[in-house]
Amino acid sequence: MEEKGYGLLEIKRLNRVRIKKVIYKYAPITRIQIAEALGLTLPTITTNVASMLSDGLLKEAPLSDETPVNPQSGRKPSVLSFKADAAYAVGAELGPYCTTVCATDLLGKIVFQREYPIAPQEYDRMLPELAGEIRDIASHLPQHKLLGAGVGLPGFIESEKGVIRSNSRQSWNGKNLMEDLRRELGLGVTIDNNVRMRAIGEELLVRKLRPDIFAYYYISKGIACPLMIQENVIAGYTAGAGEIGHTLAQPDGPICPTCGHAGCLDAVASETAILNFCREACKEGKAPVLRSLLSEEKADALDIKTVLRAQQMGDLSVCEIVEHAVEYLGISLANLINLISPGLVVVDGYLMKQECNRKKLRDVIAKHLYGLNEKEVGIEFLSFDLYRGAKGSAAKVLRKFLLE
Ligand SMILES: [Zn+2]
Repeated sequence: MEEKGYGLLEIKRLNRVRIKKVIYKYAPITRIQIAEALGLTLPTITTNVASMLSDGLLKEAPLSDETPVNPQSGRKPSVLSFKADAAYAVGAELGPYCTTVCATDLLGKIVFQREYPIAPQEYDRMLPELAGEIRDIASHLPQHKLLGAGVGLPGFIESEKGVIRSNSRQSWNGKNLMEDLRRELGLGVTIDNNVRMRAIGEELLVRKLRPDIFAYYYISKGIACPLMIQENVIAGYTAGAGEIGHTLAQPDGPICPTCGHAGCLDAVASETAILNFCREACKEGKAPVLRSLLSEEKADALDIKTVLRAQQMGDLSVCEIVEHAVEYLGISLANLINLISPGLVVVDGYLMKQECNRKKLRDVIAKHLYGLNEKEVGIEFLSFDLYRGAKGSAAKVLRKFLLE
């Protein structure tokens, strides 16, 4: 008897979650459309919607002025959507170049954002600094509507336990960042790999129909590619799935600075690799445009922005270096597509700001596809957004709220 009761409660809970998800994704939407989309009865929708309206989560608006009155109910049909200011989340990304923190409303729109210098190498310094940054952003929000904070960081992260298993900043490894931050903030915290956070944000906050298997290919200081399958990020058996940057690209290639193996994709095609090759070219007296840009800007630190400028200005050595990297990126993507056949690949990375790099990537992929033509493989390039990772981290908090 008890089991039966529990089963019924669970069905009710699942129905509520499904209704929330449909409204979140497809609002504005009518009760009838929700019922049709989910194959549930109208009374089930009406009961759930009524409780969400009274909780202040949803708002209702007339479908349109011209819509006739429904003869059965005697009312005009109305559309439902979530109230943006019903709840808020904070997201942070401990990125490879800087830390970004933002607050979003329930619909994922950023309401506050701030950029900070790269997080310290020492865990004991990073923790209070990060807590302070999150607290600062959170102080702008109504506290009773704050759902929690999400933090994304590079490396091998055991999200469920909240543990940083492996990260290039040695003193962070083995630490339970989730618990430590919870204690510091007195707030619900979730942590994950930063590229997975980006993929979660892309899945939750982009309101368009997407294939239910998509790959999120991220090119930055390193390269990663989490897979989303039916709204879930594939973590793998040991939480390390998606580390495409450490798959072998060139057996006799340079040593990968992160894992120490020779010829990882990261070592031949990441921003770090491109910058290393450019530095060498400059030392050898090549790359004249790049060298003149660097002396002009008096910059000791070479960055990917300057490299792309030199590429645009036709520096032959730089063009060759970037093309070589994009060739490897294209091969790795074609391998991935041939293996998994995702309905869509979303490509995120500053390198792909340049149209010629996008074209080259598409061409290389097309050359190596098996059994598919390039039109059957959706490739979507995201525009560069400094806060994309922080927003994705907030999205994970919002998603947890929607799934409750
Ligand atoms: Zn490696």
